[in-house]
Amino acid sequence: MRIYISADMEGITGLVDADDVQPGGRDYERGRVMMTEDVNAAVRGALAAGATTVTVNDAHGPMRNLLPELLHPAARLVRGKPKNMIMLEGLDATFDAVLCVGYHSRAGTLGVMSHTFMGHEIEDMWLEDRPVGEIGFAHATAAAIGVRVVMLSGDDTACAEMNDWDATVTCVAVKHANDRFAAELPPLTEARQAIETAVAGSLTTQHAGAPTAHSGPSTLTVRWQSASVASALLGIPGVTLVDSRTVQAGGHLPGLYRLFGVWTRVATALTNQAPYC
Ligand SMILES: [Zn+2]
Repeated sequence: MRIYISADMEGITGLVDADDVQPGGRDYERGRVMMTEDVNAAVRGALAAGATTVTVNDAHGPMRNLLPELLHPAARLVRGKPKNMIMLEGLDATFDAVLCVGYHSRAGTLGVMSHTFMGHEIEDMWLEDRPVGEIGFAHATAAAIGVRVVMLSGDDTACAEMNDWDATVTCVAVKHANDRFAAELPPLTEARQAIETAVAGSLTTQHAGAPTAHSGPSTLTVRWQSASVASALLGIPGVTLVDSRTVQAGGHLPGLYRLFGVWTRVATALTNQAPYC
């Protein structure tokens, strides 16, 4: 059994502030240890369920957050950037399941460090007509690749967003969001044990058949803060303008996910705001 872990940072046990998750932040170095520990809990759960390969994609910000020397010795690590497939780099149909560790809710929600792919630049995003953030976009893209997301850890708002998207995903709330930079935390050992148990349980649950992927073309719509980003993206064939700062494109996943990655690089170049994830 081959397991793919996409690891973000905002939804990691104990972390509540930008200082915890951004390089140079006062507690970033401690945050990296916390992130590695949550991922290790997921790796242990996967191995307990019979995983033979566990590949971890460091999917947050600089994508060099996880500490290789503290990472579970059985795990393979996808590290650094650029990554054309962003939070799903290296995922293909040979994997049996995706685990989303440390994920956060989408921009505009009252979740811990909620946002969508960039700090502020993306105000809203829709897949078809459905509001989507990093959670739904990863789920839909993984399904198009042919792999099911079976577990997610994050705060309670990330769990709710995942289960709204797909009620069959096992979710572990490792913190309760009180506000965007405030949360109530369970004991660390309890949270990590919950991840391990949930992963093992989700991988032994029978998921019949291939994941349900949206058949046919998809439509991605993104409302940016800056009209100049939308204007620049019009230079890409297939991109149309919905209003002065909202762009739309049709296509098939997973290609549309990759195209979106190009959009974020254009937005970065114009706003000096790094893609964040
Ligand atoms: Zn992140």
